[in-house]
Amino acid sequence: MVKETWSAANVRKSLIIRIKKTLNTEEGKEEGLNNVNQFIDSAVRELLEKLEEKRFSHQNTYDDKVRILDNKIGKMGDIVTIFLKEELKIGFCDYCESEKCVHVKYMWELEDVVKILKKRNFNSPYAEQIK
Ligand SMILES: [Zn+2]
Repeated sequence: MVKETWSAANVRKSLIIRIKKTLNTEEGKEEGLNNVNQFIDSAVRELLEKLEEKRFSHQNTYDDKVRILDNKIGKMGDIVTIFLKEELKIGFCDYCESEKCVHVKYMWELEDVVKILKKRNFNSPYAEQIK
């Protein structure tokens, strides 16, 4: 087993007091948390999991378009299409009606797609961020 190492961070005293009070309640005990460190560790982990949830996923690439699933639009997520405009050498998102949006940005982060786009001399509006 790999030993977990710990690092210190500052937490407001008022929050520590609230945590200690909560740990002594029925609800606190039910969570199975025994001390302030465990409480903070658990709360931070929960927030990280929420923030790290994957928003986009690449669906497919065609000659004239790239399709991306966006989990934050529509009721259950929706697929957006980025049209590859050969004459302008740019991608154009049909959902945002823009050549510069989170979807186009995500497209330019997909290694396999970028290879194809570069071969075809397409330009990223986020070029300064592409290695
Ligand atoms: Zn878009």
